[in-house]
Amino acid sequence: MTMDSSLLLPVPNRLEPFWLQERDVQLKSARTTVDIPSTCDVVIIGSGLTGAMAAWNVYQELEDCQKRANVVMLEADEVCGSATARNGGHCKPLTFIGYRAEASKHGAEIANQLLRFEAGALEMYAKLVEEEDIDCDMHVTRAFDICFTAEGSDSAKKDWDARMAAYPDCMRDSDVRRVDDKQTLESLTGVQGGLWGASYPAGHLWPYKLAASLIRKCIAKGMNLQTYTPATHLFASPAGWTIETPRGNINTKSVVIATNAYTSSILPEFKTKILPVRGSACSITPAPSHSAGAVPGPLRYTYGLRFGTGEVDYMIPRQGRGRIPGRGDQSYILGGAKGCFLSNLDEWYNNKRDNEEMPGVREYFEGYMAKYFAKWDGNENGNVDRVWSGVLGYSADLLPYVGEVPDRPGVFICAGFTGHGMPRIPGCTAAVSKLVSAFVIDSAITPSVQSQFEASLPKPYWMTKDRLVSKQNLIKSAMGQLVDEEVINARGKEEHLNTVCKDLRDL
Ligand SMILES: Cc1cc2nc3c(=O)[nH]c(=O)nc-3n(C[C@H](O)[C@H](O)[C@H](O)COP(=O)(O)OP(=O)(O)OC[C@H]3O[C@@H](n4cnc5c(N)ncnc54)[C@H](O)[C@@H]3O)c2cc1C
Repeated sequence: MTMDSSLLLPVPNRLEPFWLQERDVQLKSARTTVDIPSTCDVVIIGSGLTGAMAAWNVYQELEDCQKRANVVMLEADEVCGSATARNGGHCKPLTFIGYRAEASKHGAEIANQLLRFEAGALEMYAKLVEEEDIDCDMHVTRAFDICFTAEGSDSAKKDWDARMAAYPDCMRDSDVRRVDDKQTLESLTGVQGGLWGASYPAGHLWPYKLAASLIRKCIAKGMNLQTYTPATHLFASPAGWTIETPRGNINTKSVVIATNAYTSSILPEFKTKILPVRGSACSITPAPSHSAGAVPGPLRYTYGLRFGTGEVDYMIPRQGRGRIPGRGDQSYILGGAKGCFLSNLDEWYNNKRDNEEMPGVREYFEGYMAKYFAKWDGNENGNVDRVWSGVLGYSADLLPYVGEVPDRPGVFICAGFTGHGMPRIPGCTAAVSKLVSAFVIDSAITPSVQSQFEASLPKPYWMTKDRLVSKQNLIKSAMGQLVDEEVINARGKEEHLNTVCKDLRDL
């Protein structure tokens, strides 16, 4: 069968990220059976963190009901080789940044719920990793957001004040601490030049290892994994749904779309809803100044360095190793560098070329540690080890789509994480898996299952027809690249600024 080459699928020969240096070699190109099965109960499309956690949660739900199901996972490329293997490894649930933007759109209660939802992810990861004894360098610490401009500091403080005024108990529960004094900020964080900062609980892990471990565990429960098998077409059939692949068709009762940036390859109606956005990250080895026993020594926090609209860098020092508790190699994963390319739309917007380095990012990363981290004494390349690109799935309204796809009963989506998947994927996959398992068991979503789903997920994430047909696309303006006077005039300057301030949510 010939394949439509215009489909939005991963490109060949992608750059090698840090996280793939310890591939699961058995899983990489695994095909549980020589031929793909012709029928099953659930097909999960995509083997990134979303596909892996969805599969894991579906098995948990079914086991709780003492039911069994045939589950197949299709992956277009090697196992888990896309965004999950190319990201910053940073789980940074937001605690106040972006609060006013969401409150102006959805009301204060939902804005607060969105932040609480993210906060829950850290505990979910820690519990899963510990209970299932998963070797993925999980480490819980605190993240520091540091603002470098007066405008950014002012906006962050306003977000802080607004949530504190409306939900003081939640702010206290979130364990957020602000640092107003520049000197204190520098001595606490080791970062020079910041104007204002705040810290809160966050974590980091090796996302590929977590996803690969879960996929292995699901295979042990009976899942059939088929790598290098893109799903190219989905249509309604007597079985429920038929999925075409170059290796034959699969008939299934239900489908989970866990394809993030590539979703329109299988759901064409998402072509303007989830767009591929190219990003960059790198790995850095510690300099003598930041090694154990030296002064200032190893960094303890994770970081979000905020320079302006759309320009946010994120960094983790890898402190975890193996299973909890561990000791990492203290190397860093640094991502962002958006100032190098944001003004050139073709370089990032609707771009899936993670086989190429993005212009200027290597030089940016090489100069980074010496510029921002006090007393750094790295080598002339800034101790940069690998530089890679990755494709993020940005949704048109900047929030993930989770739930049953309109007019496609039995097809469930969990995608469009907009560069901020780690704090959202555990809760989103748990919610969608309830729908999937109920559909497999009862061939329908009962009102009680639907209300459990709705109770477990913030409303702005629900996959609704309104979101699907909306013409809104906030991606460029959130990245500071679209100042459409008509839009500003129509909704008022203050509201526009609040919307644009969403960029500050970005990791
Ligand atoms: C450079 C970079 C840095 C990032 N840093 C962070 C960070 O620090 N913190 C954070 O929270 N988030 C970060 N993100 C975002 C985060 O990586 C994603 O939100 C998350 O990995 C999404 O997981 P996923 O499983 O939904 O998507 P993916 O990991 O992209 O998985 C989707 C899978 O579906 C497969 N697929 C697609 N279409 C088909 C098809 N038709 N048939 C079969 N298979 C298909 C793909 O090949 C892919 O393997 C970053 C992303 C990038 C690129």
